[in-house]
Amino acid sequence: MLAFRLTAAGATALQDVPVPEPGPGEVLVRVGAAGACHSDLHMIDATAPRHVPLTLGHEIAGWVEALGPGVTGFAVHEPVGVYGVLGCGQCAECLRGRENACRSGFGGIGLTRDGGMAEFVVVPARCLMPLGGLDVVRAAPIADAGLTPYHAIAMHRCALQAGSTCVVLGVGGLGHLAVQILRATTAATVIAADIAPDALALAKRLGAHAVVDTEDPDAAVAEIREHAGAADVVFDFVGLSATLDIARRVVATGGHLSLVGLGGGTLPVSPGGWTLPFEVRITLPFWGTRAEFREVLALAARGDLTTEIQPFDLADVATAYDRLRAGAITGRAVVVP
Ligand code: NAD
Ligand code: ZN
Ligand code: ZN
Repeated sequence: MLAFRLTAAGATALQDVPVPEPGPGEVLVRVGAAGACHSDLHMIDATAPRHVPLTLGHEIAGWVEALGPGVTGFAVHEPVGVYGVLGCGQCAECLRGRENACRSGFGGIGLTRDGGMAEFVVVPARCLMPLGGLDVVRAAPIADAGLTPYHAIAMHRCALQAGSTCVVLGVGGLGHLAVQILRATTAATVIAADIAPDALALAKRLGAHAVVDTEDPDAAVAEIREHAGAADVVFDFVGLSATLDIARRVVATGGHLSLVGLGGGTLPVSPGGWTLPFEVRITLPFWGTRAEFREVLALAARGDLTTEIQPFDLADVATAYDRLRAGAITGRAVVVP
C-alpha cells in the first residue's frame, strides 16, 4: 500500500509499504480520509524527530477491515472514527479518562506510531468510535481539529456564559470548528480573527458574530477592544508570538487564555511586570478525551458541526501540505486514499 512517511528531519516520502497486520487487541482500518493538520508540519520541521520512519496522519476515519486476535464488538466494514491519543492506561490521569494528560508521556497514532496517511492503518480496538451515519470524509477532521477545540472550550466553559465574549485567533482547521462548537455549546459572543480573508469569510458564514483581520496587530487589538471591551476567553489556535501578543493585550482581568496553537511563539509572563492582567488563567490543552470525542461526534451527527474540507488524492498529499504551509487551505485539507 502507499503511505506518506516522515523519513528523517525535514524529509517525507510517499512509499510503498506492506499492509500492516493487526496484532492481539488491534484492528486494521481501511482509511476513508485523513486530515492534514498543521502539527504535521511542526513534526516535519522538528530538528530531531524521535519516531522515524513514521506514517503521518492523526485525524482518521474509515471502515473496519479486519479484527486482530481477541477483538470483538466491531463488524467488518463498519464506519469508524479513530481516537488518536495513546495513554499508558494506568496513571492517575489515564484512570480519570484523561489519556490526553497521561503522566507517562506523550503518545498518539500518527505521532508516535504509524498513522492514517495511507490506505490502511492498524489501531488498538479501544481507539475506534462508531460513526453511525456521519460521512466518513467529513468526519475525519473531527478526530483532532474538532476534538481539540471541543476540549479546549470545555476547559473554559465557566467563562463562556451569556454576556461574555471570546476571541478565536486563527480560523484554520481547528479554528473553523472552534467557532461552530462555541456557537453550538455556549452563549458567548464569538469574535474570530485571522490574517487570511477567506478564513474570515468562512468564520462569518459559520456563525462568528464579528471577524477581525490581524494583518496589523495594533489595529486588530483596537478593533477587538471596540467589539468586546476586553475578552473573557481568548483561544489562540496559532501560537506565534504575534498572536500570543494580541491574546495578552485583549484578555480581560480575570479572563482566560487557552493556548492551543503550537507555533513556537513566546508569551511573556512576568508577575509585577504588567505583561498580563491580574487573575488571568492560562491553559495549554492537548487533544481531548475519548468521552469528548464521542460528544463532538454527536454535535456533528445532529448537524451543529460541519467540516469545511478540501480533498486531495493520496498521490497529491505533498501538495496538500505545501498548500497548508502556504496558508492556502480554507478549512481542512483531507487526504482520501
Ligand atoms: P491551520 O494552518 O489549518 O490554521 C491556522 C490558521 O491561523 C490559518 O487560518 C492562518 O491563516 C491563521 N494565522 C496564521 N497566522 C496568523 C496570525 N498572525 N493571526 C491570525 N491568524 C493567523 O492550522 P491547524 O491545523 O488549525 O492548527 C493550528 C495550530 O494548532 C497548529 O500550531 C497546530 O500544531 C496546533 N494544534 C495543537 C493541538 C493541541 O492539542 N494543542 C492539536 C492540533 C493542532
Ligand atoms: Zn493535529
Ligand atoms: Zn497514563
